[in-house]
Amino acid sequence: MRIILLGPPGSGKGTQAQRLVQRYSIVQLSTGEMLRAAVAAGTPVGLKAKEIMASGGLVPDEVVVGIISDRIDQPDAKNGFILDGFPRTVPQAEALDELLKHKHLKLDAVIELRVNESALLNRVETRVAQMRERGEEVRIDDTPEVLTRRLASYRNQTEPLIHYYSERRKLSTIDGMMAIDEVTRAIHRLLLALGAVEPKTHARSAAKTGPAKTTAKKAKAAKKPVKTAKKAAKSAKKATKKAVKGAKKAARKTVKKATKKAAKKTVKKAVKKGAKKAAKKVTKRRAKR
Ligand code: AMP
Repeated sequence: MRIILLGPPGSGKGTQAQRLVQRYSIVQLSTGEMLRAAVAAGTPVGLKAKEIMASGGLVPDEVVVGIISDRIDQPDAKNGFILDGFPRTVPQAEALDELLKHKHLKLDAVIELRVNESALLNRVETRVAQMRERGEEVRIDDTPEVLTRRLASYRNQTEPLIHYYSERRKLSTIDGMMAIDEVTRAIHRLLLALGAVEPKTHARSAAKTGPAKTTAKKAKAAKKPVKTAKKAAKSAKKATKKAVKGAKKAARKTVKKATKKAAKKTVKKAVKKGAKKAAKKVTKRRAKR
């Protein structure tokens, strides 16, 4: 699989590239990383790039195209690669097309991570603060001033690539403002839809990684409430049955009591009536006499 990740500095290209590397066993070819390594090693390329990079400008096209061409020929890139930070200009894109044609290689996709520019400064500031906290070395071009220049060079020189690849029907755009995991999932879905990865590979890798495990866990957890709900329903039924039984018993008792009382009253009344009648009879008889 061969893909290009396009997006301004701070859009999450590096993070997503690392995830793709792990999932598909391909390599990440980041011109920024390669240039930083060249600067650190003090190679002729490094010496050329040092000042330009520190100011937020772009290193000459022929320099980066040369680096990329050599890197693609390395054995570890045979399985596929993600280009991160390259191409950055239309001439670089044209040179890449030529280079791939010459090597009989085909690009699978160009993925643009679209982000809200005003959020980028915040993102980079957070990244710098976290790196400082971890005691890591912070890039000299990760300052608000240089970032502003890097953003301007993205807008002027790199953004035209969106049109370039869109015209060639290679461009897919993903909302880079989503959470990191959401962006990763969207990229996977896109690669599946494009046929750049096989569903089987996707399923296998998905089973190995976090999100799928989480899904399995979620499924297990989701089953639990069902079980609990079933249990609760059962005991509620039992309780209702008991309550109905109790109520029936109580009603029967009340009816019995009421009936008894009524019967007693009737008997009492009857007895009273009978006694009165008898008394009347006796009085009548006595009067006759
Ligand atoms: P990055 O790590 O991709 O942000 O790149 C850091 C710096 O390296 C950029 O600001 C440029 O100065 C330089 N650079 C990286 N890739 C390229 C490229 N494709 N073309 C020109 N300059 C580049």
